[in-house]
Amino acid sequence: MDETRLFSRATFLTQAGGALVGSAMTTASCLGGQSAAAGAHTWKGRKDSKVQRWDVITIGNLSRNRYWGESDAQGVRAAICTCTLIVGAGFRLLVDPSLADAVEMGRELDRRTGIKPRDVSAVFMTHEHGDHFAGLAHFPEATWWAAPGVAENLNTSAKLPRRVEGVMDRLFDAVEVIATPGHTRTHHSLRFDCDGLSIVAAGDAVATRDFFRERRGYFNAVDFELSARTMDRLAAVADIIIPGHDNYFLADFRSTAG
Ligand SMILES: [Zn+2]
Repeated sequence: MDETRLFSRATFLTQAGGALVGSAMTTASCLGGQSAAAGAHTWKGRKDSKVQRWDVITIGNLSRNRYWGESDAQGVRAAICTCTLIVGAGFRLLVDPSLADAVEMGRELDRRTGIKPRDVSAVFMTHEHGDHFAGLAHFPEATWWAAPGVAENLNTSAKLPRRVEGVMDRLFDAVEVIATPGHTRTHHSLRFDCDGLSIVAAGDAVATRDFFRERRGYFNAVDFELSARTMDRLAAVADIIIPGHDNYFLADFRSTAG
């Protein structure tokens, strides 16, 4: 008997078994399910949240994406941001209104949720970059909110027909305003619980899933190290991250995928 072959076969089977378990864990995590092999996954969200549902209204894209082989030096397409609607008892909160064209903004809101712009109670801006408030004027009946530093920047820009109110409290007693500096100094995101999951509408604190995977700030970040630490903090508190320019994703995929 060739002991080297025997050893190799045993080693192979052990490694193959391990790989299969690892694969099952990854698959279960990707599907949001629970794997017996992995043990019960502990989600971070509370079940008694006042948030009833949330929907991505527009899936954003970047003007240039280094993970697609594009240079940071110049934009190659128009950027739009990811816009999200958070709905709870008595409120509809829109995050980062993305579309400058009123008809398009209304159409996307209707396609994803069936509601009209006038049904939105409040609009929150994560930061003062133009693509994150491009559609704000289409919600004249809503309250306009941002963290105080962002509101000040927006109000002094003279680009808006009326003032944005600074807020730091829990919005509608359901949604937390959290400081997420790095992309800009005053950037703030929203965190809330829904269906037992902890969800962060990150704005540009996270550009896309690829940027989050490498904890990399977008090319125009004011502080890349601070951006990375902010993403670490978001990974610790979120099950799901809604980035500024991509579809939403599981925050812990990095640890489960190895
Ligand atoms: Zn930005």
